[in-house]
Amino acid sequence: MQRLQAFKYELMPGSEQQRDMRRFAGSCRFVYNKALAMQKSLYEQGAKKLGYAGLCKSLLGWKAESTWLAETPSQALQQTLKDLERAYSNFFAKRADFPRFNKKGMGDSFRYPQGCKLDQPNSRIFLPKLGWIRYRNSRDVLGEVRNVTVSYSSGKWFVSIQTQREVEQPLPAATSAIGIDVGIVRFATMSDVSFVAPLNSFKEHQQRLARYQRRMSHKAKCNVKLKRTKFSSNWKKAKLKVQQIHNTIANARKDFLHKTTTTISQNHALVCVEDLQVKNMSKSSKGNCEQHSKKVKQKSGLNRAILDQGWGEFRRQLEYKVMWYGGILLAVSPHHTSQTCPDCDHASKDNRQTQTKFLCVNCRYENHADVVGAINILSRGMQILRDKGQDKADASAWHESAARIACEVNGAVMPSATGTHRSACAKSSRSAVGIPVLSALAAAAG
Ligand SMILES: [Zn+2]
Repeated sequence: MQRLQAFKYELMPGSEQQRDMRRFAGSCRFVYNKALAMQKSLYEQGAKKLGYAGLCKSLLGWKAESTWLAETPSQALQQTLKDLERAYSNFFAKRADFPRFNKKGMGDSFRYPQGCKLDQPNSRIFLPKLGWIRYRNSRDVLGEVRNVTVSYSSGKWFVSIQTQREVEQPLPAATSAIGIDVGIVRFATMSDVSFVAPLNSFKEHQQRLARYQRRMSHKAKCNVKLKRTKFSSNWKKAKLKVQQIHNTIANARKDFLHKTTTTISQNHALVCVEDLQVKNMSKSSKGNCEQHSKKVKQKSGLNRAILDQGWGEFRRQLEYKVMWYGGILLAVSPHHTSQTCPDCDHASKDNRQTQTKFLCVNCRYENHADVVGAINILSRGMQILRDKGQDKADASAWHESAARIACEVNGAVMPSATGTHRSACAKSSRSAVGIPVLSALAAAAG
């Protein structure tokens, strides 16, 4: 099995290297925006969009006009055009929103497809036109380096090294099966009654965020009155703070999701989830907000947005991690999972008395509504396996065919999975750990 994995480290560049990196990221942004503007006007004229080759041709023209572009590695500029091409394809395939123009300070990055040398014993990496740069070596890079992305975030430079390696299809160490229901009050509820509470550290961050955002708008207002330059140093300070809080929140969420998905993937050979699209999920969260208590209403806004994104990412991580640990991920139909009685199969709205309480009107079976959902998700997954003739009543029977099914299953759930990150899609396509990994995984699986 081909395993693609990205390893990310903080870089420790010299001041000259930092200046060059800022310049490279700026040139890539310039080229990306120029190409996007061109594609946009072609689109508006009803003309056919330019392919990657056509964009590269235009790049030669821009290089002649703006000679400073020559200072940036050509490969990095070409990779930017590839990103745009991918963002465009995702848009036309209805997987993502229309590509947006890149702003300074928003995802500043550039990528080398080759030419980098990794010197792990000395914790340094050679990047073309930058030279050797030391990095914070927190773990070993495994596999053959495929490409290297340099990015800037909150005052720090990072390097993400994407690698490829051949690993044996692992056999799952666990033999249990689990169904998972995702929700707002409980982030994830398992069919074995356990659940994962949502990450609650946002509240504190939210208040700090609001404070600095107020400060930012206040500074901006002052400046309009005094007719001074809009970006005063205090405004910039507040802006940096806002970015840092956003980063802290994003990192906390990333950490939370990684820990959760790793635990689930390591502990279960079969993982069943609802085949939900994030678009539908955000709709349901809206619906829930109306039905729910005030608490959920208060939580909407930032927190809800975070949760919405969390589900898509949760599913994406489960997909590849379950495969890494040799298990199987099944996505089942979400239809009526929370209204059907797991005991007598009676499906009715009346079974669901409140948001949390499930009481079967037919057989009086009683349980937490989310647990019922998770149990139904699991039994639907088991049904899929039975239909495939794989169920031998005990989980160990999957082991021999796990590899085959895992490939089959992962191929089967791909389309919906790639369609789950809408707005996140365009952004993540700029990083080495985004869409390329998914599509490569799909190719490897198929
Ligand atoms: Zn019942």
